[in-house]
Amino acid sequence: MDIDTIAAISTPMGEGAIGIVRVSGDDALKVADRLYKGKKPLSEADSHTINYGHIVDPKTGEITEEVMVSVLKAPRTYTKENMVEINCHGGLISVNRVLQLALNEGARLAEPGEFTKRAFMNGRIDLSQAEGVMDLIRAKTDRAMNVAMNQVEGKLSQRLQKLRQALLETVAHVEVNIDYPEYDAEEMTLEILQEKGTFVMKEIDKLLQTAQQGKILREGLSTVIIGRPNVGKSSLLNSLVHENKAIVTDIPGTTRDVIEEYVNVRGVPLRLLDTAGIRDTEDVVEKLGVERSRKVIKDAELVLLVLNYNESLTDSDKELFQLSEGHDTIIIVNKTDLEDRIDINSVKELAGNRPVVTTSLLKDEGVDELEEAIKDLFFQGDLETGDMSYVSNSRHIALLNQAKKAVRDALEAVESGMPVDMVQIDITRAWELLGEVIGDSVHESLIDQLFSQFCLGK
Ligand code: GDP
Ligand code: ZN
Repeated sequence: MDIDTIAAISTPMGEGAIGIVRVSGDDALKVADRLYKGKKPLSEADSHTINYGHIVDPKTGEITEEVMVSVLKAPRTYTKENMVEINCHGGLISVNRVLQLALNEGARLAEPGEFTKRAFMNGRIDLSQAEGVMDLIRAKTDRAMNVAMNQVEGKLSQRLQKLRQALLETVAHVEVNIDYPEYDAEEMTLEILQEKGTFVMKEIDKLLQTAQQGKILREGLSTVIIGRPNVGKSSLLNSLVHENKAIVTDIPGTTRDVIEEYVNVRGVPLRLLDTAGIRDTEDVVEKLGVERSRKVIKDAELVLLVLNYNESLTDSDKELFQLSEGHDTIIIVNKTDLEDRIDINSVKELAGNRPVVTTSLLKDEGVDELEEAIKDLFFQGDLETGDMSYVSNSRHIALLNQAKKAVRDALEAVESGMPVDMVQIDITRAWELLGEVIGDSVHESLIDQLFSQFCLGK
């Protein structure tokens, strides 16, 4: 069966020094040859070479572009199919024209993510690796990028395969037991079940323990700044945004009904919620202080609670302490350049084991300590070391939790003396759930949906 040939522009849609049109499929070289003129046809070029030439409109004979074309012959390519990458050195219009010619000459416009989908369908990568590709494109910090890269390289897949293998061995034992009851391997089977089941549970737990950090790296940590009027919330926001690389995001804040801003604080991507309410000092909403805080705090994973060093604690302050209970919170006592009027011991008492940092945002003091506190709160230990695979994707986390539950059910069944074939149902279920992470046994509609989230040309 012929695999149809797809084409798309793989570089961002904007002005740039070069743009790339990517073509993949059985006929990729043939299609490209119809619009390419060089020393020799691309189909005669060696694989993995770059070839200089021109794009010529076959209908008019007009030269439209000067190009460098990468020839990548199956199977050692991104999609495992024949591939051609046409590097044009013009802007958007010329890249578009080359794409149009490729479409005229037999290629079909690729759907978003279709190149990566083909890599998956052709067995070069599994689903979690493909999802890693998407994360890689969207990574907002270097660390998020490393996590995604690990996933693309298959580190997570390898670990899951090991667990599935362990479960499979157990099932095999149970099968023998059911088929040959006279063999009387019951005792041994239960022992193996218990041993492998416990092993798998522990391993899943280890992965889930990385989930919180992994998810933060991938999605950002939703953060709110609260405090009475005039304590320095806007100043804090400005300081965080200006001292750190603001992260450009394509997620429109309006869909969440709050305006968001991303900043990268020592590798922790903060998603600052409700920055509109903080930015606009004239906003009457801000005068509502506590009321507003109550609303925004609901969605927050990190609360930055700002107090005024220059004033004694008020009831509103205490109320904000109460509101932030149950959230990770950092207390910021601001305006230390002014006279000491706050009772810092009461602050520490109210804070309990939550960190208290003192700042003078006016004089730019204490901001380093604050950033360090943010980092320590979420990344104890060292993130850079080790090739630990983080679980960062909500789909994966949900599946791992379900798999863990299935294994736990199996272990409990063993303990309560249930027949071995009952136990097998749970083990098989755990095996299937782990398989879904890497795309074994997932439904086709899910696959379509996952890949449709990709950008064009990937
Ligand atoms: P918000 O109402 O909580 O957003 O507070 P703002 O950030 O708008 O600050 C209120 C006022 O306090 C402004 O005039 C700031 O310049 C001032 N302010 C902020 N931080 C400090 C500080 O550390 N020391 C002093 N002396 N003034 C500050
Ligand atoms: Zn403000």
